[in-house]
Amino acid sequence: MPIEQGFEEERIVTSRTLGEDGDVEYSLRPKVLGEYIGQEKVKENLTVYIEAAKARREALDHVLLYGPPGLGKTTLAGIIANEMGVSIRVTSGPAIEKAGDLAAILTSLSQGDILFIDEIHRLSRSVEEILYPAMEDYSLDIILGKGPGAHSVRLDLPKFTLIGATTRTGLLTAPLRDRFGVISRLELYTPKELSEIIIRSADILGTKIEPAGAMEIARRSRGTPRIANRMLKRVRDFAEVKGDGIITDKIADEALSRMEVDKLGLDMIDRKMMMFIIENFGGGPVGLDTLAASIGEDATTIEDVYEPYLLQLGFLNRTPRGRMATVRAYEHFGVNYTEKPDDSAQQSIFHLED
Ligand code: ADP
Repeated sequence: MPIEQGFEEERIVTSRTLGEDGDVEYSLRPKVLGEYIGQEKVKENLTVYIEAAKARREALDHVLLYGPPGLGKTTLAGIIANEMGVSIRVTSGPAIEKAGDLAAILTSLSQGDILFIDEIHRLSRSVEEILYPAMEDYSLDIILGKGPGAHSVRLDLPKFTLIGATTRTGLLTAPLRDRFGVISRLELYTPKELSEIIIRSADILGTKIEPAGAMEIARRSRGTPRIANRMLKRVRDFAEVKGDGIITDKIADEALSRMEVDKLGLDMIDRKMMMFIIENFGGGPVGLDTLAASIGEDATTIEDVYEPYLLQLGFLNRTPRGRMATVRAYEHFGVNYTEKPDDSAQQSIFHLED
C-alpha cells in the first residue's frame, strides 16, 4: 500500500506491507480454506456460497471483503479462486488509472474468473462507472469516435466474479457497495489464532519454535497475521544469532523488547499518541485531525492502522466529540487517573475542534 507520509514505513508493528515482507509473505500465504486460520464466520459463509456456485456451475457472486490491512483479504481472494478452480487477476484501485485500463482487464477475463481489486475505494469516478454495468449485466459500454459522430457500443463480458477489498465499507460509494452480493468483515485475530499462524509459518520457514515462544509473539502482533509473520522472521534472526536458533518465550521477549515493542505490541508511536491525549488534553476528547497532526500521520492512517487495535485493547473510545483515553490506557502507560467532571476546558476544546 502506498504510504502518504509519517512513520508507517519504519514501524515493525505496521499492518501495511513493508519491503522486507516481500517473497516470504507470498510463500506463507495459505492456498486453501482449510489452511486459513480463524475468521470462522466468514469462512463458513464463503464455503456455502462456493459450494452453491460450483453446483450450479455459475460464477460466484461479487464479494466485498473489508477490515484493517494485513488480516488476509488478498489471501482469501486467492483461496476463493483456488476453491472455485478458476484464475485470478490481481490489481488495485490506484493502479487502474483510466476507464480504458479497466475495460482492457475486463475483456481479458474468462468465464468464472476472479478479478481482485485491492483498495477498491480508491477507484476514480469514471472507472467506477464502467464497473456498474460490468458487475450487474456483465456488459461494457464503450464510446466509439469523438464529437457528434460518437456512439456507444455495448460489449458482452464473460460472467466473472469481482472481489473487492477495502479497509472500511464507509469509504465506498453506495452504488458500488450495493452491487456486491456478499459483504464480509474480517476481524482482528485472537492471540491463540495468531499463535497457530506463527507455528504454521515457522514450519514453512523451517524454524523451531516452542508454543510459549509463538504465544509471546502472538500477543504482540496486534491481532494481525502480517505483523505476526514479520515479527516471527525478526525473532528467528535474533534466535539464530543470540541463541541456538530455537524460538522460546524468553528469546521472543528479548528480541521484541529490543525493537521497542511492548508486551501488548505497542510501540513508541502508539505511546506518543496516547500520551498526547492524556497529557495535553487531560484524556480527551480530541478530534481526529488534531491527533493525526500530533504524530505526523494522515487521519486515514490513524483510523485504519492505529486505532483498530487500540480500540480492541479498550485503550481508546470513539465518542461523537472525539477520541478519549480510557482508565485502562492510563494504567498501562503508568499515569494516575483522576476522575474528572465534564469540565469546561474539555468542552471548549471540543468546540475548537469541530
Ligand atoms: P490484506 O490483503 O488483508 O492486507 P494479506 O492477505 O496480504 O492481507 O495477508 C497478509 C499475510 O498474512 C499473508 O501473507 C498471509 O501469510 C498471512 N495471513 C493472513 N490471514 C491469514 C490466515 N487466516 N491464516 C494464515 N495466514 C494468514
